[in-house]
Amino acid sequence: MSDTPFGTPRPRLQPPAGGALTWLEDAGCRGLDTELFFPAGPKGPGRRQADEAKAVCRTCPVRRQCGSWALATAQEYGIWGGMDEEERVMAHRRGRLSTRLNGPAQKKGTDAQ
Ligand code: SF4
Repeated sequence: MSDTPFGTPRPRLQPPAGGALTWLEDAGCRGLDTELFFPAGPKGPGRRQADEAKAVCRTCPVRRQCGSWALATAQEYGIWGGMDEEERVMAHRRGRLSTRLNGPAQKKGTDAQ
């Protein structure tokens, strides 16, 4: 395997059996060095690393699923769905505020007629 602009490729990520995270099969980061998505810190080289990871996420076809999963499972570290730790905290707060102001989101087909 050769290096890419985003790091050294690693063996392909295998989603768990049962289809729970099947969206991982289409992940833009699949095969890339996972360390890129876990920057050393918010400044200096870590900041550049995070920017590179977010650039991968911006073109990822499963970005929405990834970000939702990271929020739902309260991932504390790393870049998921193009969001770093701080951005996920802000997204979580926005979601809670929205629910408080507008009530829980209605699922399709559950609207009262
Ligand atoms: S959004 Fe980013 S971290 Fe999530 S699967 Fe896509 S490339 Fe990977």
